[in-house]
Amino acid sequence: MPELTDIQYVRNIMEKHGFHMSKSLGQNFLINPTVCPRIAEYGNAKPGFGILEIGTGVGVLTKELAIRADKVVAIELDQKLFPILEETLAGFENIKIIHGDVMTYDLEKLIQEEFLTKNIRNIAVCANLPYYITSPVIMRLLEENSAKHLNLSSITVMVQKEAAQRICAPVGSRASGAVTVAVAYYGKAVKLFDVSRGSFLPSPNVDSSVMQIVVYPENSMNPESMRDQVQDERLFFRMVKTGFSQRRKQLAGVLCNAFAIPKSETLEIFAKAKIAPSVRIEALTMAELIRLSNAFSQSQSMHIF
Ligand code: SAM
Repeated sequence: MPELTDIQYVRNIMEKHGFHMSKSLGQNFLINPTVCPRIAEYGNAKPGFGILEIGTGVGVLTKELAIRADKVVAIELDQKLFPILEETLAGFENIKIIHGDVMTYDLEKLIQEEFLTKNIRNIAVCANLPYYITSPVIMRLLEENSAKHLNLSSITVMVQKEAAQRICAPVGSRASGAVTVAVAYYGKAVKLFDVSRGSFLPSPNVDSSVMQIVVYPENSMNPESMRDQVQDERLFFRMVKTGFSQRRKQLAGVLCNAFAIPKSETLEIFAKAKIAPSVRIEALTMAELIRLSNAFSQSQSMHIF
């Protein structure tokens, strides 16, 4: 079987099947032979593990995952890739490719049917993500994992370099954003390695990085997880989103307007949380954000929400 990182082979097989790459589906396929093995190894593709992949392309990463893990289930939106995949992944008994959209597919059912009923209980996500939905995919995985107990242990994904920098930034640093806080709520994100734009066909205008979120297990007392300190999760995320939507403004003013609470009361809430009203949200650590959202949740005025 020719290597799926051989550009000529990939071009020929696409031509043979009349396949044209779609920019709008984020189709930049990996052709650097060193990258997929590294993603697979960092990403827990190993015996005893089931891997959920998002977006197969011509199967270059799928194959590396399948060589190492017990089973690979991939969700791919572009039906036109399926005849190619039949050819490129022929002979692998432990790969299942599902036609669907990762943003709407029933992940709970998938994991139940494809992994748990086969007694595969260690499940990790690995993907070279389509960049147009990087943050929404990551957030969907983390939220579904939490709400539906999907039991995902890690999410190892290639994303645009800037997105990795943002997501993996320390909470409380200028590089952080709402997504940084949201990801840090569910797990620990680290950047693993950079991948240059020349590693893809076609070559995008940006460089990429592979990053990993080690997901905090549900109901565990992981000392790094601060989740159990949050009194009102909905309010916490609403505060974070609102604050970052006007990140350069003084936080008390932003929240006073957004929550329609009198200024005097807002100042009392900030005082109770021991946070300066003039602070910008990007300067607050996770502990401070939680303290502030808890102080809001205890205020009488917030009870109308
Ligand atoms: N894994 C391959 C590789 O590394 O060469 C392909 C990666 S490419 C960046 C992203 C893949 O995700 C494409 O195959 C694209 O068709 C697929 N895709 C795009 N949007 C999707 C969605 N909403 N759900 C599932 N797959 C999607």
